[in-house]
Amino acid sequence: MLLIFGAMPRERVLTTVTFVCEYCRTPATQDVVESATRFSAFFIPLFTVSRRYFVACSHCGGTTELTAEQATHAAEWAARNRQMS
Ligand SMILES: [Zn+2]
Repeated sequence: MLLIFGAMPRERVLTTVTFVCEYCRTPATQDVVESATRFSAFFIPLFTVSRRYFVACSHCGGTTELTAEQATHAAEWAARNRQMS
């Protein structure tokens, strides 16, 4: 029997915020990204093995790791400020 399994990474942009990047010192949009690695069998994702969050600068590509709490807070903050404007 042939069994095809593996882990497929998937990245999803949770929100986009703008602040001065700590790498290039330029005010630029920063994507708050959730990266989830999913175990799959026969190319069907079954469950998430690991999940991490980071912010990626659109100007220089520099990334900074975030905790799940920081990523959630950033998404909520962006949603709240979007409603006000
Ligand atoms: Zn940058």
